Amino acid sequence: METQRYIIGKRDEKGFYPVKVCAIAAGTIHRRHGSWYATMPGHPVERAADRDQAAALLVARVDQGDRPTIPAPAPVTPATRIHGLRATRSYSHLMPSLRLSLANLVRSAEATARLAQLGWTPLEGYPGADQPWLMECRLCGWKGRRFWSHLRGRNGDNTPRPITRHPGCIPVADHAAALITLAAERARECGCERKHPTWISEALDALAAIQTALDGKAFMSAAIYSRSIVEPCPASTRRAEVLRAALTRRTNALKNLKNQ
Ligand SMILES: [Zn+2]
Ligand SMILES: [Zn+2]
Repeated sequence: METQRYIIGKRDEKGFYPVKVCAIAAGTIHRRHGSWYATMPGHPVERAADRDQAAALLVARVDQGDRPTIPAPAPVTPATRIHGLRATRSYSHLMPSLRLSLANLVRSAEATARLAQLGWTPLEGYPGADQPWLMECRLCGWKGRRFWSHLRGRNGDNTPRPITRHPGCIPVADHAAALITLAAERARECGCERKHPTWISEALDALAAIQTALDGKAFMSAAIYSRSIVEPCPASTRRAEVLRAALTRRTNALKNLKNQ
């Protein structure tokens, strides 16, 4: 029988287990949304079916000569916050501070999804592209206001501007690895207790409910229905995609109705 070549250490308060491979601190493994992930700092996060498979991925990296390239405190991971504290808090602080309309809600979902990719968590509702937006840096915990128009990058170029996120952040050279670690939290499926739309049919339902409420001037109901769009969700990228597709479909359906 082959001897086990890794030692899984004690889980830290953020959910990461340090893994040693032949006395080398190879990285960490952690569980998120039903999957296991292996992180060797400075290398892409890898997904595995269980903890032993995740640890084995680190063994394989060590065997092929890979070593952690940045000192390895457990990576910043406020995922528990997304599913714990934030989710239990009111979502109303995340309602866009723009006129409540389907178009603005979809823009807000898109901006929030992109912010997650860039390692930012919004602390207030989407204010529009050219207004300061209060957010938290996921790489270091800094809180402050940033302009969405500066962060999102230009058309077809996903490089956020400015490249220095804010004064006092972790070194620019470490941003890419930190963002790769954060990417492991994101998912294509919403595993949340309260379901968020990740299929076009669900997005169509959500938008229809909101528009019906708005048409009836039931603004409180509209805000409640908007919850599924503005709440944090690990599948925020897919949610934004299906909402955009659903909104386009609604717009086209309305056009066809008018032309009949
Ligand atoms: Zn920062
Ligand atoms: Zn969700």
